Amino acid sequence: MPNTKAIKALPTIIQRLRVKHPNARYELNWESPLQLLVATILAAQCTDERVNEVTPGLFAKYPDANAYAKAKIEELEEDLRPTGFYRQKARTVQSVCQVLLEKFDGKVPGTMEEMLVLPGVARKTANVVLNTAFQLPTGVIVDTHVQRVSQRLGLTDQKRPEKIELDLMNLVPKEDWIFFGPAMVLLGRYTCTHHAPRCSDCVLNDLCPKIGVGAEAQGPAPKDEPGEKAPEPEEELASMAAKKTKTKAAPANSKASTATKTKPAPAAAKVTAPAQPTGPLLQSLLPADWQAVLAEEFTKPYFKQLQKFVAEERAKHKVFPPEEDMFNAFKTTPFEQVKVLLLGQDPYHDDGQAHGMCFSVRPGVKPPPSLVNMFKELHNEFGCKVPNNGYLVPWAERGVLLLNAVLTVRAHEPNSHKDKGWEKFTDAVIKALNERKKPVVFVLWGGYAQKKKKLITGEQHRVVMAAHPSPLSMKKFMGSKPFSAINSALKEVGEAAIDWQIPDL
Ligand code: SF4
Repeated sequence: MPNTKAIKALPTIIQRLRVKHPNARYELNWESPLQLLVATILAAQCTDERVNEVTPGLFAKYPDANAYAKAKIEELEEDLRPTGFYRQKARTVQSVCQVLLEKFDGKVPGTMEEMLVLPGVARKTANVVLNTAFQLPTGVIVDTHVQRVSQRLGLTDQKRPEKIELDLMNLVPKEDWIFFGPAMVLLGRYTCTHHAPRCSDCVLNDLCPKIGVGAEAQGPAPKDEPGEKAPEPEEELASMAAKKTKTKAAPANSKASTATKTKPAPAAAKVTAPAQPTGPLLQSLLPADWQAVLAEEFTKPYFKQLQKFVAEERAKHKVFPPEEDMFNAFKTTPFEQVKVLLLGQDPYHDDGQAHGMCFSVRPGVKPPPSLVNMFKELHNEFGCKVPNNGYLVPWAERGVLLLNAVLTVRAHEPNSHKDKGWEKFTDAVIKALNERKKPVVFVLWGGYAQKKKKLITGEQHRVVMAAHPSPLSMKKFMGSKPFSAINSALKEVGEAAIDWQIPDL
């Protein structure tokens, strides 16, 4: 039975998930239902990032079900090798495509009943495709993350994915199903991790009964946990191995299904468990659009040193924000959608504050003085209601890139990661936006930010300068109407004004 506290809190849980993960989606790249189906099969026991590296070439080589069905199995295996379990996956992909050709005219079907006919496809994969590619609320995606988070939240006390899904379908309004699954996956992947859930950083902390969470819950996560890839529910993998297919088994691979259960392919293992203290490549944590824009930086010596420095710091000290939040500003405001760049300096250095966006703090964390002053000024300028939180994600979603010049800090040691390379990196961000044709309003508050003015040379852009909102310069900041100045500059360049109201949580 679901926990009564959880049932009562569910509307708030959904609302907070919408704020925390507004664009929640399965993190696989695809352009057609078939591509999503194949990518989802490949994502079993592999990171989404690795699958996304493999699929562009794969999708170009195999444009339709016919191409997979007719492929030489050995060749398809080689193409899938980097995703691990490649022999099993090759057979599954090929047999799925053969059934698509035989029964569905080569197209991915649009009902749960039909999807479950496909070899190796259980409800989770079917829901991923139907929810995501067809926008059909056929159920709630339940992978191991959703399973774990739902149990901890008390939304279910079931253990089997299909029963958990039933509980969630009964509790969560149908119009939220498509959003809810991917949002819970992201919460599980980045916050409510298996070994060390970061409850103090979680937007659901005050609502969650933390069922089954031990004393380790408040501690830092092990280094291999952020962004962890959960294993798929057992029956999905078992089904992948056991369902009979019409593909002829490749003789040389007859041991694959038993061998791969215990021994992932080396390529996949490399991605999920990088050696310390190297850490995951910093650039791999950035979203794809920003990676493309900043690609040149990743090859420069300073960036490699920065990568090493950050990894070593994280290995030895508590560093804010957590790794998975470090690039939240970039994740929430895509390159092409930046209308305003608001430049901060250093991440907040106290526990639970910083989450990868300048000036912003997580829900439940008291807004620091600079942010309080900003809210007061907004009240004076536009009559905005002072919100009950300092979580600025809605601004980021409206096109305000909330960028600090330095993106990490050692806990309780302000400016401790200054001059380690971040400034060069964030200068490159400013330069990339400066080179963009579409105008940007660059907001430089205080002397530190204003030194960056020299980087902004494009005539299409505007620079808005004002005093910093910190208590040290608040007298100059208050009444200077800095937000009106931003909106006026946006109007000048033909862009709509920003709605600065932050909603209550
Ligand atoms: S409060 Fe803790 S246990 Fe509950 S969902 Fe958040 S991270 Fe998981």
